[in-house]
Amino acid sequence: MYSDLYNRLNQYYSRLDPHHETWVLWIKGNKTPKEIFEVAIGTILVQNTNWRNVDKVLANLKSQNVFSFPQVLEIKQEKLEQLVQPAGFYKQKAVYLKSLSALFLKYPTRDTLPSRKELLECRGVGKETADSILVYCFQHPIPIVGTYTRRFLARFFAEKNYLKMKYEIIQQELNDNLERDFEVFGRFHALVVCHGQNFCQKNTPRCLHCFLLNNCQYGQLHESNSEIAKIQTLISRKTKKKPSK
Ligand code: SF4
Repeated sequence: MYSDLYNRLNQYYSRLDPHHETWVLWIKGNKTPKEIFEVAIGTILVQNTNWRNVDKVLANLKSQNVFSFPQVLEIKQEKLEQLVQPAGFYKQKAVYLKSLSALFLKYPTRDTLPSRKELLECRGVGKETADSILVYCFQHPIPIVGTYTRRFLARFFAEKNYLKMKYEIIQQELNDNLERDFEVFGRFHALVVCHGQNFCQKNTPRCLHCFLLNNCQYGQLHESNSEIAKIQTLISRKTKKKPSK
């Protein structure tokens, strides 16, 4: 089922991806040091904001020649806060960027990668961010579980437990059912985000227009079904407030 789901998402979004350029960079193998830097800081900057605002910060950093891990560590905190401002939560995010940059400097060649534990010890790095860094920066095959993943699986399988289930349980399920390849795990995460933004939206999913309608349990059941209504209520209640992923 997961492989089929992955293939269908992949097929559809290879033709329609509103964040095409961003995801192309994130999924690309053999990144240059600058590309790794952009993706790594992007995992922090994108928390609780959109790509447009992240792009503004990236432009700010480029214009001030702060586009490497050593340069982030060298720049004064206040100056970095100013540059990061468009992404919101700029005081916290500036601290997080310095913390992550210090870790990356310990792994300059990328031949060895930081452990998940080390990443989780960085400020502002939660499980989704740590796994995103492992996949998108170090090409390490580990599934990424995000809010979009939980919401999508809860609806697709009509199983509200996905909304609260332990991160590692969902991760294991993806690990057992998808090809163990960094590109597959990275793409699956990206595709589910794209789908969540295009069809499977938080409050009003566009089921009637969705290409997965025939296989999706939520889409097949009427909204008045009590189990479906419970899932939607839980999804609607879940609102992120701080950048702690
Ligand atoms: S049919 Fe509806 S609930 Fe199912 S994946 Fe599509 S948009 Fe989401």
